[in-house]
Amino acid sequence: MSLESPLETALSQLRSSIENLQLSESMWNTLSTPRRILEVAVPLRRDNSIVEMYKGYRVQYSTTRGPSKGGIRFHPDIDLNETVALAMLMTWKCALVHLPYGGAKGGVAVDPLKLSVRENERLTRRYTSEILPIIGPERDIPAPDVGTDEKNMAWMMDTYSVNAGFSVPGVVTGKPIVLGGSLGRTSATGDGIAIAVREALRVKGIGLDGATVAIQGFGKVGYWSAVALEAMGMKIVAISDVSGGIKDFGSLADLHQHIEVGGSLSNYGIGDLITNAELLSLDVDVLIPAALADSINQENASKVLAKVVVEGANGPTTPEGDRILAEKGVLVIPDILANSGGVIVSYFEWVQDKQNYSWSADEVKENLETMLMRAINEVKDLVASKEVSWREAAMMLGVGRVAEAHKLRGLYP
Ligand code: GLU
Repeated sequence: MSLESPLETALSQLRSSIENLQLSESMWNTLSTPRRILEVAVPLRRDNSIVEMYKGYRVQYSTTRGPSKGGIRFHPDIDLNETVALAMLMTWKCALVHLPYGGAKGGVAVDPLKLSVRENERLTRRYTSEILPIIGPERDIPAPDVGTDEKNMAWMMDTYSVNAGFSVPGVVTGKPIVLGGSLGRTSATGDGIAIAVREALRVKGIGLDGATVAIQGFGKVGYWSAVALEAMGMKIVAISDVSGGIKDFGSLADLHQHIEVGGSLSNYGIGDLITNAELLSLDVDVLIPAALADSINQENASKVLAKVVVEGANGPTTPEGDRILAEKGVLVIPDILANSGGVIVSYFEWVQDKQNYSWSADEVKENLETMLMRAINEVKDLVASKEVSWREAAMMLGVGRVAEAHKLRGLYP
C-alpha cells in the first residue's frame, strides 16, 4: 500500500477542517487552490565548467492575510506538489499564530551537500534572480528551510538589493545578524518546540525533569530543539540523521562538534548505533520527528511507544499514522503549532528590519513565548470545548482565520 503524498496529506487535513468548521464548498474551492506558482529553470555552472539545469519553484499559496511567507528548501527530492503542500501548511501556520502573513514555500531540486560553497552561491543567486519579480518585503518573504541557512539568505538579500539599487534587508528573514538578522532566529524553531514539549508534558502530567526524548533529524530543527530541551532538564536519549541513529551518545555539544567538522552520527564512536525505525519505536516520553515528511505512517505508527509526539518537521505524520497514534492515546502536537517558533521570530526580524531597530535577545525570547503560548492556549481551549485532536483544533483556528479574511475581503470583481 503506497503512502499518501505530502499534498494528499495536507489536502485531507484541510478537508476535515472545512468539515469541522462547517464551511461551504465554495470556501473549500477557495482554500484548496494555491494562488500563484512559479516554476523556473536554474542553470548552474559547476566548478568544472559544465552547465547543469535544476528545477526551482516558488509557490505563493495565499496572500489573503498579508504578504506570503515561507522557507526555501534545497533538496534533491522536492517537486511542485510537495512545495504546494508546504506552502499550504505555512498559510495555516501563520494564521494560527496571528502573524499578518499568507503562506509560501520555494526551493530547488538539488542536493546542496554535493555543491561547493561557490556553486551553492551561484545557484542561490540565480534562483533568486529567477523568482525576483514575485518576491519583496511587502509581497513574499523567503527564509531558510531544509538544506538552506543564513548564508543562502545573505546571498538572496544581496541579489535582491543589487537589483533594486539599495539595501533591502526585509526581503528575506533568517539572515546573519550583521545584515539585519534577528537575535534568537537561529535557535527559534527549536526554542518553540521545547515550549510545545513543555506544554504537552504538562497536559500528560509528566514532569520535565529527566523526561526522555528521541529526536529524528539532527539538522537545524533537531539540534536546537535538543539544546533547548536539555536546558529545560530533559534527557535526549537518541538522535538520528540520514546516516542512521545513535543512542546514549553522552554530550550533545561534543556530538554536534563532531558533525560540524564533517563527521556523521554513524562514525561518532560513542553510544549505540540504531536505525531510524528503531528510534521511532523507542520507549521514551517524547518523540520529535524533525526530518522530512511522512516519517510516521501506517506502517510504523503502531510501533511508536512515546507518550507525546511533537512535530518538528512539516508534515511528518500521514493521516493514517495520525489515526493510529490517536487510537493509542499518543498526544500529537501538530507541525503548524509545534514548529511555528521559526516563522514567529522571522516575523520579529521583518518587523525589526521595517523599524531599523534591533531587539535584545531577551525581548525576542519573551515575545516568542507570549505569541506561541497564546496559540497553544487557544488550541488547548478548542481541544477541550470541541473534543477534537490538537491537529484538528490548530487547523480549525488557522483555516478559520484565513476563511474569515476571505469572507471579509470579498471576491473581486
Ligand atoms: N522554514 C520554516 C518553516 O517551515 C520557517 C519559515 C519562515 O521563517 O518564513 O516554518
